[in-house]
Amino acid sequence: MKVTAMDIYKLLPKTNCGKCGEASCMAFAAKLSQKEAELSACPQLKGADFEKLANMLAPAVREIKIGTGDRAVTIGGDEVLYRYELTYYNPTAVAVDLSDDMDDSAFDQKLVKIKNLEFERTGEILKLNAVALRNKSGDAEKFKKAAEKLKDSEIPVILCSFDPKAMDAALDVIGSKRPLIYAATENNIDEMSELALKHNCPISLFVPNDLEKMKQLSRKLRESGVKDIVLDPGTYIGEAIGDTMDNFIMIRRLAVEEKDDDFRFPILAVPAVCWINPEEDEILTKMKEATTAAALMNRYADVMILHGVDIWEMMPVLTLRQSLYTDPRKPQSVEAKIYEFGTVDENSPVIMTTNFALTYYTVAGDLKSGKVNCYLLVLDTNGKAVDVAVAGGQFNGKAAAELMKETGIEKLVNHKKLIIPGLAASVSGDIEDQSGWEVIVGTRDSSEVPAFLAKIW
Ligand code: SF4
Repeated sequence: MKVTAMDIYKLLPKTNCGKCGEASCMAFAAKLSQKEAELSACPQLKGADFEKLANMLAPAVREIKIGTGDRAVTIGGDEVLYRYELTYYNPTAVAVDLSDDMDDSAFDQKLVKIKNLEFERTGEILKLNAVALRNKSGDAEKFKKAAEKLKDSEIPVILCSFDPKAMDAALDVIGSKRPLIYAATENNIDEMSELALKHNCPISLFVPNDLEKMKQLSRKLRESGVKDIVLDPGTYIGEAIGDTMDNFIMIRRLAVEEKDDDFRFPILAVPAVCWINPEEDEILTKMKEATTAAALMNRYADVMILHGVDIWEMMPVLTLRQSLYTDPRKPQSVEAKIYEFGTVDENSPVIMTTNFALTYYTVAGDLKSGKVNCYLLVLDTNGKAVDVAVAGGQFNGKAAAELMKETGIEKLVNHKKLIIPGLAASVSGDIEDQSGWEVIVGTRDSSEVPAFLAKIW
C-alpha cells in the first residue's frame, strides 16, 4: 500500500514553521509522498518519529547500487505495482555478457561495443548499463584474468560464477568496484555471503522456480548481515515464459502489497538463456532474446543480462525501457525558447510549435531532413501536444505573443509572418490579435513543412 500524505502528516511536527521550504507541514507531507522532498529537510523532525517516518518512506523494493563512479547504476526503489499509481523509479539496468574463455581480441571488441552502444531518443541518450562477466571456462584463474581486463573500465560489472573460489579470485581484482555477485545458491550461500560482506558488494540469489525456498534463503542472507540482495527466480522461455512472469509478479506483489522483507529486493532476469538452444538463424535468436527482455521488463525485471549487442536488437529494448520509466505525471518536454535550423537570416520563416518532447523532436527531425532554414518558436504548453494544448487553452494568442516578445523574434527577421501548425488553426485569429503578426496556418503534419515552405516562402 502506498503511504499517503495523511499517513505522513500524522507524524510531522505540525508547526507549519516553513523551514522545509513548504508553506505547511501538509504541503511537505504531500511532497514526501510523491518522493519530491527529503525527510531531512524538516529540522524539527527528530527521534522516534523520524525513524518511524524513515521506515514508512523506505521504498517497497530496496534501492541497490552496482558499480562506482559516474557510470554506477541504481536498481530497485519501486513503490507500486502499476505505473499510473505513482511512477517507476530507476530504469531496468541492461547488461550484456562477456565470457572468460573469449580470446583477447573478441573480448575487447565486444567490450567496446557494449560501452559505446548508445542512441538518442526524444532528447535522451539511451545506453547499456553493465557488463556481465561469465566464468564459462570454469577456471578461477581465467575468471580472474578476465576480471583484470575490466579493472580500469568504468562500466559496472556483474560477476557470474557459482564457484566461490572463482568469485573470490575475481573479487580480489575488482571487488572495490562494487560488482554484483551472481550468484548465491542453496549450495554455496555461506561462502558467497561471506564474499559479499567482505567486499561490501550486492549479491544475487538464484533459486530457480521455488519461491518458498527463495524466501528461506533470502532470510538466511539477511540474517548473515547482507543487505543488498537481488532476486533471480530463473528465466524460463518458450512455453514456460508464463511461469517466469508469474514468479516475477508474485515477488513484486509480496514486496509491494505484503511488505514481505524477504522479497523486498530488485529482480534479475536472464534473457541470454535464449542462446542455450539457439535457432538455426542467429537473427531469430536475437529477436527471441529481445522479446523475452521486453516481456520481463514489463513484469518488474530491475536488471537483465543479455548476450546480443546489435543496435537493432537493443533499440526496442531500450526504447521500451524509456517509455516504461517516464513519469506518467510529467509529460516529457523541451525548453520553451527559440531554436535555429540551418542557416538563418532576416528573411527566414518563423514557425511555432509546442514543447511536448515528441512533438518537438518530430518537427526538428522533419526540418533537418528537409534542410529547412528557419526559426522555430517553441511554446510552453506544459508538455502538451498541439491539439491537446489548443483544446486545453495553453496554445493561445496571449501565450504566443508573450513568447514572441521574450525571444525578440521581431529583431531577428524583417517580416511579421508566423507559421503555426494546421492543428492550431482555430487560434490563428487570437494570435494575430495579440501579436499583430500575420498568421499563416501551416500543415497538420510536420513532414509536409519543407514542401509547404517551398510553395509559400
Ligand atoms: S519544517 Fe517541518 S515542522 Fe516546519 S513546516 Fe516543514 S514539515 Fe512542518
